[in-house]
Amino acid sequence: MDGPLTAALLIVSTTAAQNPSADASAAILRDVFNDEGDGKWKLTGESIVTDDVMQIQKQITAWADGHAAPNLIITTGGTGFAVADGTPEAVSPLLHKQAPGLVHAMLSSSLAVTPFAMMSRPAAGVRNKSIIVTLPGSPKGAKENLQAIIKTLPHACLQAAGANSRVLHSGGVKKLESDAGITAASKSQAQSQEHDHHHHHHHHHHGHGHGHGNLVRHTNPNAQALSNDPQLGPSRRNRESPYPMLSVDDAFALIAEHSPEPQVSHRNVDEAIVGSVLAEAVRARENVPAFRASIVDGYAVVAPKDGNMKGVFPVTAISHAAPGEVRPLKEGEIARITTGAPLPPGATSVIMVEDTVLKTMTEDGKEEKEVEIHAEGVNEGENVREVGSDIKEGSVILDKGEQISGVGGEIGLLAAVGVAQAKVYRRPVIGILSTGDEIIEYARPGPLRLGEVRDTNRITLISAVKEWGFEVVDLGIAKDKPGTLEETLRSGLRRADVLITTGGVSMGELDLLKPTIERSLGGTIHFGRVAMKPGKPTTFATVPVKDNEGNRVSKTIFSLPGNPASALVTFHLFVLPSLHKQSGIAPVGLPKVPVFLAHDFPMDPRPEYHRAVVTVGKDGQLLASSTGGQRSSKVGSLRSANALVCMPSGKGKLEKGSKVEALLMNAARMG
Ligand code: AMP
Ligand code: MG
Repeated sequence: MDGPLTAALLIVSTTAAQNPSADASAAILRDVFNDEGDGKWKLTGESIVTDDVMQIQKQITAWADGHAAPNLIITTGGTGFAVADGTPEAVSPLLHKQAPGLVHAMLSSSLAVTPFAMMSRPAAGVRNKSIIVTLPGSPKGAKENLQAIIKTLPHACLQAAGANSRVLHSGGVKKLESDAGITAASKSQAQSQEHDHHHHHHHHHHGHGHGHGNLVRHTNPNAQALSNDPQLGPSRRNRESPYPMLSVDDAFALIAEHSPEPQVSHRNVDEAIVGSVLAEAVRARENVPAFRASIVDGYAVVAPKDGNMKGVFPVTAISHAAPGEVRPLKEGEIARITTGAPLPPGATSVIMVEDTVLKTMTEDGKEEKEVEIHAEGVNEGENVREVGSDIKEGSVILDKGEQISGVGGEIGLLAAVGVAQAKVYRRPVIGILSTGDEIIEYARPGPLRLGEVRDTNRITLISAVKEWGFEVVDLGIAKDKPGTLEETLRSGLRRADVLITTGGVSMGELDLLKPTIERSLGGTIHFGRVAMKPGKPTTFATVPVKDNEGNRVSKTIFSLPGNPASALVTFHLFVLPSLHKQSGIAPVGLPKVPVFLAHDFPMDPRPEYHRAVVTVGKDGQLLASSTGGQRSSKVGSLRSANALVCMPSGKGKLEKGSKVEALLMNAARMG
């Protein structure tokens, strides 16, 4: 391996997070790396977090999942039995491989010093290419534990980073030990057994012959499946979700990062283009008006220099708002003209019919012969719309990024200037799928058998997606069978750009979405748990696929919880911003407005998106009332809801009159 091994240090301590000088362990651990690390180590990261599972997981995943993942991540603190101690609980779910040997080595070395080492609960293992080890918080304990393993860590790190294990082991344990600077005197009994034990087993690792220490990675570190292997059955499933619990904001950030950029397409300007966003500025192809037109009903005239038009004039021509040639006009002649009709050649101005009197008629009494005009100071161009005075040919009429709405008249503007085709962002097609053996078509006649549930989510989401202006492919209901689900997802990925599934993301052994996406489709799950109510198991993934032209693209899958209220809330919260991004719409997601609570709202330990009715109060302020019980299975709580009130996490209640934010789902229903 070229260059030193990299290590990152995470200090888990609520006290040190407030006052970094209160931390004594970091300095001691740095010394151990410098003094006993044989020059092999370089500390590349250091961070302090409170005793908070999410914060710990956030920092560790930022390191281990990043581009420059360190070889080693050491935590110190939070490994004891105190109520706040939760570092092993935060770290364990992140590990792709457990390393009980490292745990054993640390414990046995500390136990040799004090029986109180029993009170340490370390975790150790591998995530992607990084080895992660939790050390105790006491400076002495942390030091002893690190000393116990530091000589063997370089070897483990090289293996974890993908080095050729056959080459690494070719000299046998003796060579390994001497390379690591472990002498017979310094090694404890436990360490020696550890190595004898591991020695032979490691030889079956596949080497690729790239030479010693040459790091070659053959698999995508993100492709590590965290999900259950469905073939192992219920007894072997994870009993605790292996996905880190993300905050809603972190989930938003991942969606923004991994939702594909919008694609440009040429489209005809017709009703179907409404809702699309322009991918380039549009210029007028023609002048509006295209000819000099009258803006009143009256008489086209050739105004003399002095503007005096008092007198009686013969009506020599008629110009209607209709295509065709118009006879030219000479000074002293006038032409009857209607609103919007082209001016005869030679005419300078139009006199309103209100400023005239009919003088004589033709013999049959049907036509005007002479008209008297009462007008002085007539200017050139009076009552005339000049060519291009509304819109000049070649001028920009709509900007890139503007949405062609049905209510704003943009479509009319395009039509007016002769733009028949426009470059817009293609709106993604959305495939929608329900899952579950218990789910039946909602319209199936006859009573339900025990356990059957009518499919609520599919029609709900199809309607919501269409309401937001996207095209839908109905993918039906998939049974909880790995093959069926995989087939349905694959066909969905061929027919749609984005898939929305509901159900099958809980912790049951038949909850197959995550394993199918990871293990069968080769997808990446960006998150599988969010700290929120409702919608905790919301899952977001991308899957690499080829599009119709054979290009490699990435398609997004949102696997929403099965409970109908959760499904609709998480659609609005997470899916809609992604659909917006993929169609070039900005800002993304539901609009956020400040509202006042119309009554006390209960608080939940998780941030809650509370279904509510927002109305405009007398003073113009917005008032939010709950739609009632918020259990995630409660379909009724969605009735008449037009907003989601963003309730902060907490205990007790938020009082009537409190100001909070709400996401508006339907501003048209606020009356
Ligand atoms: P699951 O996530 O599959 O465990 O589903 C959670 C709950 O939501 C279960 O009670 C399911 O029966 C219910 N559920 C799942 N999908 C639907 C659906 N499409 N319509 C109505 N209820 C559903
Ligand atoms: Mg299910």
